[in-house]
Amino acid sequence: MQDFDVAIIGGGLTGIGAALKLVKNNVNVAVIEAHEIGAGASGRNGGLVCSGYRHDQIWLEEKMGKSEAHELWDISQGAKKNLENILSENQINADYEKGLLFCAHNKRMFDWLQSDMAHLQNEYSYNDLEILDESECNHAISTKDYKGGVLDKGAGRVHPLKLLYGMANAAIKNGAIIYEKTRAIAIEENSNGVKIIHENGHINAKNLLICGDGYLHSINQEVEAKVLPISSFVIATEKLDFDLMPNAIGAMDTKFVVNYFQKTFDNRLLFGGGEKYTPNWPKDIAGFVRKNLLKIYPQLENVKIEHAWGGALGITPTRLPFVRKIGKAIYSASGYSGQGVLLAPFFGDILGQMILGDAQKFETLSKMPVPDFPGGRMFRFPLLTAAMSYYSILDKLP
Ligand SMILES: Cc1cc2nc3c(=O)[nH]c(=O)nc-3n(C[C@H](O)[C@H](O)[C@H](O)COP(=O)(O)OP(=O)(O)OC[C@H]3O[C@@H](n4cnc5c(N)ncnc54)[C@H](O)[C@@H]3O)c2cc1C
Repeated sequence: MQDFDVAIIGGGLTGIGAALKLVKNNVNVAVIEAHEIGAGASGRNGGLVCSGYRHDQIWLEEKMGKSEAHELWDISQGAKKNLENILSENQINADYEKGLLFCAHNKRMFDWLQSDMAHLQNEYSYNDLEILDESECNHAISTKDYKGGVLDKGAGRVHPLKLLYGMANAAIKNGAIIYEKTRAIAIEENSNGVKIIHENGHINAKNLLICGDGYLHSINQEVEAKVLPISSFVIATEKLDFDLMPNAIGAMDTKFVVNYFQKTFDNRLLFGGGEKYTPNWPKDIAGFVRKNLLKIYPQLENVKIEHAWGGALGITPTRLPFVRKIGKAIYSASGYSGQGVLLAPFFGDILGQMILGDAQKFETLSKMPVPDFPGGRMFRFPLLTAAMSYYSILDKLP
């Protein structure tokens, strides 16, 4: 039973990003984590650091207007600066390297990548992009599978768990208290702020930040109506004695069920591909992902898969993160829809900025349109499964 200025539910990149910002500004913070730091998506992801959001800027301009779309783009670019500052200020070595290739799985998507690049250059003065034609793209990552791509020299990859541990250690050093193996089970707002009841007792705080993303169960109905978990799966090969990606550090493709992969610091191929929309995971995760890997890299047929795992990530109906004030003293950020490695630490920082009195970026993020998933509590999951399965069929079209 203790009192804090700010309590944070969730010890992932969002929660720890917020904690770090706050303790560096002398705010008294407690993080409550149901398992251990990094047990959620932040310790299990593919480590790709992507520019922008899941929708391109033209889509954002149409939905939100030019000026808001520009503010969102500036925030996503700010997230890169934030990542670099976190790494350097706290002396974290998290294998951060740049050079991420976006690969088009058909001609139509290659046309889209090129027009997206032209728009980013002309409208946003973003000049870190380079078009690679079919043969340059395939050569860059040693495959024959893609119709062309765009190399983003401002994006890249990081080792997410090294990043998160580094951030958590820095937060602790600056005074954060982290309670692991402590699941929050209920929240009660009162005149002093919020009471968070957890498995081992309760804590009181003036403000609460809910940062549970795809792992949040039955804590807040508003967040859970907009952010649903899906599962993604990853494998890592044995160490390779050749360079599979001579001209990139990582890649992802334009499929709805995206394949994403990177060359790790110890020269393994880390490959994510394959999703599940129900809680039933494949019995053989390695086999489930490997068949997607072999479509892109048939030459790795005889390479050993040494690690295989999965995790849940929060997605929203519009694929835009859900950032909102959801109570008198309760705020939340989640639903990065597969782009949280870069965004989550900065959105955590922005939650922190808001608590410290600068709500400008928080308000911009709060304008992102995120409706409830259709179907209510009963039918949300079946409808999500049906919709995702439908879109994944479109990946098979030429
Ligand atoms: C397999 C996989 C691959 C991915 N690959 C990429 C990628 O390459 N690039 C990219 O940008 N994004 C990727 N993502 C998404 C990215 O990892 C997430 O967007 C990001 O980590 C979200 O961070 P978070 O802190 O919001 O949530 P999480 O890291 O999921 O943390 C939430 C935490 O909250 C805790 N929690 C939940 N409820 C409670 C409670 N009631 N009480 C206490 N604690 C609670 C959980 O235990 C968990 O540790 C991937 C995700 C997965 C699963």
